[in-house]
Amino acid sequence: STKALIIGSGIAGIAASIRLAVKGYKVEVYEANAYPGGKLSEIQKDGYRFDAGPSLFTLPQQVEELFALAGKNTPDYFQYTKLPVACHYFWEDGSKIKAFAAVEQFANEVERELGEPKENIHLALENSRFIYDHLAPLFMHKSLHKLSTWTNPDALKSYLKMGKLGIFQTMDEANKRQFENPKLVQLFNRYATYNGSNPYETPATLNIIPHLEFNIGAFFPKKGMHDITLSLYELAKDQGVNFHFDQKVDEILVENGQAMAIRIKEEVIPADLVVNNMDMVNAYKTILSKQKQPKKLLNQPKSSSALIFYWGIERTFPELDLHNIFFSDNYLEEFDHIFHKKEPYKDPTVYINITSTQKPDDAPEGCMNWFTMINVPNNQGQDWDRVIAEAKKNIIHKINRILKTDIEPLIATEEILDPRSIELKTSSAQGALYGNSSNNKFAAFLRHANFSSDIKNLYFCGGSVHPGGGIPLCLLSAKIMTELIS
Ligand code: FAD
Repeated sequence: STKALIIGSGIAGIAASIRLAVKGYKVEVYEANAYPGGKLSEIQKDGYRFDAGPSLFTLPQQVEELFALAGKNTPDYFQYTKLPVACHYFWEDGSKIKAFAAVEQFANEVERELGEPKENIHLALENSRFIYDHLAPLFMHKSLHKLSTWTNPDALKSYLKMGKLGIFQTMDEANKRQFENPKLVQLFNRYATYNGSNPYETPATLNIIPHLEFNIGAFFPKKGMHDITLSLYELAKDQGVNFHFDQKVDEILVENGQAMAIRIKEEVIPADLVVNNMDMVNAYKTILSKQKQPKKLLNQPKSSSALIFYWGIERTFPELDLHNIFFSDNYLEEFDHIFHKKEPYKDPTVYINITSTQKPDDAPEGCMNWFTMINVPNNQGQDWDRVIAEAKKNIIHKINRILKTDIEPLIATEEILDPRSIELKTSSAQGALYGNSSNNKFAAFLRHANFSSDIKNLYFCGGSVHPGGGIPLCLLSAKIMTELIS
């Protein structure tokens, strides 16, 4: 049978391996790390378990589809539940909002707590649904780089609605029109960070994201986020996919304009098809360095990165849930720091993800596992040791002010992930979480295609190529890519 080689076992690489195996390919996956999943991995330390990267699970249908495709029953491999409250929001003035999954309940809460007319919530979420319904078929489910995508009737309908889809205003401008209370504007502006963008620059089209969280839902895998990796890895193996760990690919070998093989040190492994799941920018710099470089794409600004403290906390806080946000008092300044001054702001928005609220064995009894994260600029050679030490102080002060407790003595154990280690562990250019940034109207058009236009039999999937970063889009990239292979 025909042999497909996949470089990288990120979530898109695993999804691609399943899809190709189902299509009848003999699939071999080569992974530089000793474990599958790339960013979607876990950390175990001193009796605590942490999901290392992604913490928010949306569009579980994308995962279900892979099990269905292989003729399997999802719950036999992977189980998840819908969250009754997607997120808990806290401000320093004592305001609190629970983002109930039931939209009416959320709207009531917002009206009661912040005096925002609840119709505004309904209208905003309807607008979000409108964007999703018109853009998803075009931008998320198809290759933008094939003529047929542009000549189908869905595409035509979408062009006609470009204005309403928010291309001509920023997310912040649109949210200021939608909401009266600045706290609501802030809450909805935060969705820009879901793909590492700046709400004061990114087009309002990204208001597509609240639809996923509110109208479709936020979910939690019963065994934690890492189980998305583990269960799909099991499924891939059951489909006959072979995984090779600790195997860093050094080169994709091209002959007569066709990908022929990969090289690992001195070993050449022939292939009928090569799929690259490694970050596109670093792939062109390393394993494709002898090939024509897509310069414009390589020079695009990257999305933001993250600084994460994985803390074992020796106490429980009943007011905290799975997803918690402690908002900055000055969001505009915070983003100006991240995207222009290239350093974190002194009053950062702090996100705390606590899986032990859902899965008690993730922390010892009476304790919590805090994944404490702030958005930070991508790596441009900043003095990260200094930045991290300052940020840690600022984060602790922020949490102390809101929880009215000194949390520092409660920290029993600590691990840190920063833009440097994100790049080191997964080879993402500059440690960006989501590939190129979307701080530009045409960002969607500036992502690398799911195939190479110069090299035959070379395909791309993952967060740095079309349609973009985040688990659902990565899974879609594998789908679009496989559909391009006849
Ligand atoms: P990656 O995970 O980037 O993996 C690529 C793999 O390729 C790695 O395993 C790497 O070792 C391997 N590789 C690279 N070079 C080579 C080589 N030369 N040879 C062999 N193997 C190689 N998404 C969400 O949906 N929700 C979230 O809440 C969320 N939060 C995030 C928080 C953090 C801290 C991070 C880091 C990311 C977050 N994301 C989130 C984004 C999400 O994790 C990524 O978009 C997604 O996991 C990327 O998957 P990928 O398939 O592109 O591959």
